[in-house]
Amino acid sequence: MIKAVRGTRDLLPPDTALWNFVEAAARDVFRAYNFQEIRTPIFEETQLFSRSVGEETDIVSKEMFTWEDRGRAQSDKGQSLTLRPENTAGVVRAYVEHKLWERGLNKLYYIGPQFRRERPQKGRYRQFYQIGAEVIGPPTAGSESPARDAEIIELLATFLDRLGIAGWNLELNSVGCPNDRASFNEALRKALRPVVSKMCADCQRRAVTNPLRVFDCKVPEDQPIIAKLPRISQFLDEPCRKHFRELQGILNSVGVPFAINDRLVRGLDYYTRTAFEFTHGALGAQNAVLGGGRYDGLSESLGGPSAPGIGFAIGEDRLVMSLKESAEPVLRRPDVYIAPLGPGMNREAARLARELRRHDLVVELGDESFRLKKSFETATRVGAKFTLIVGENEVKADSFAVKNLETGEQVSVRRQELVARIQSDR
Ligand code: AMP
Repeated sequence: MIKAVRGTRDLLPPDTALWNFVEAAARDVFRAYNFQEIRTPIFEETQLFSRSVGEETDIVSKEMFTWEDRGRAQSDKGQSLTLRPENTAGVVRAYVEHKLWERGLNKLYYIGPQFRRERPQKGRYRQFYQIGAEVIGPPTAGSESPARDAEIIELLATFLDRLGIAGWNLELNSVGCPNDRASFNEALRKALRPVVSKMCADCQRRAVTNPLRVFDCKVPEDQPIIAKLPRISQFLDEPCRKHFRELQGILNSVGVPFAINDRLVRGLDYYTRTAFEFTHGALGAQNAVLGGGRYDGLSESLGGPSAPGIGFAIGEDRLVMSLKESAEPVLRRPDVYIAPLGPGMNREAARLARELRRHDLVVELGDESFRLKKSFETATRVGAKFTLIVGENEVKADSFAVKNLETGEQVSVRRQELVARIQSDR
């Protein structure tokens, strides 16, 4: 038997209804904040990710699905391509490629699969789904302002509240700008020098190439050492401090609670200033539902103009998981099961089904070969509210037996009153 590949999974009904519910709610919220949808390709040139996410990050150094694409001729050297491990790089590439600033497109959202070769476990998959958004634009459009950061974070709080996800926590930090980063890296290197030989192989490498990434380390034995390292908060310059203070001021003013976590650096190199994560207690070890941050230099590093930006990515798999326990059933049951009774009745039933569906009723259709008992059993199994019987007598009288499967009550309803009758009891 061929099975789904490790780390991938089939999303089946009724769960898919929950996924659609989440995506519909996201689209509603995005509309209210005037975001528009963008869909970028699932694979891109590998260097897009190595240049933006960063060579030394876990994503680029270990987790990408990369292959050498064949050239046109046998002798051509192929192009290195990669399944997208995240979507911000793709959105910013599209922003630069299509000069989206000229069209005033600066608030974009996406929904789609991402791919990382991680060790699969509950809440961590190799194909997973993200719902994300980016605010990006020229500095003259106010894209650098802490008001943008606050709006994005407030949007997220609104979205989680609307889904009824109680008990989320927001952790907030500022990771500073390139200036701060240089002196911070210097201090980190110095602090790491006497202790790094006791750390894991990854950290020993990071200490040389990109010391900030030491904070991504998950090895338990390294944690006491990491806890004693200098914090980025001590190295922020005055403009970065001010930006962070203003963001906090707006969040306080709109009543979005947060906690400062000055060890939060997020595992992607492009972040500057604001970095944040929403966690949820019910998720266990993989408790980060979503993460985001500011990336003021990303457009320039991809050959574009200065375009400060901020965005986030929600892990949709984890969001659905945290909803599963609390969510109201979102699956719409069939309103009516149509039971054709006897030869020739499939035609009549199909006509009726077409009519009722045009009025937005959910209709399940049986078959004329079924006995009445089997029809009722099937109607009950699919969860229909009514069974509508279509036999020769009914067609002649243009009036149909409608049985309410919850109360057991059965009445005869004229064709032109069917829709109103079924809708009134919905
Ligand atoms: P990141 O792009 O790493 O900032 O991740 C943003 C969010 O995507 C995380 O908070 C997770 O909810 C989700 N996520 C990241 N990696 C995975 C994965 N392998 N499986 C499931 N969800 C993931």
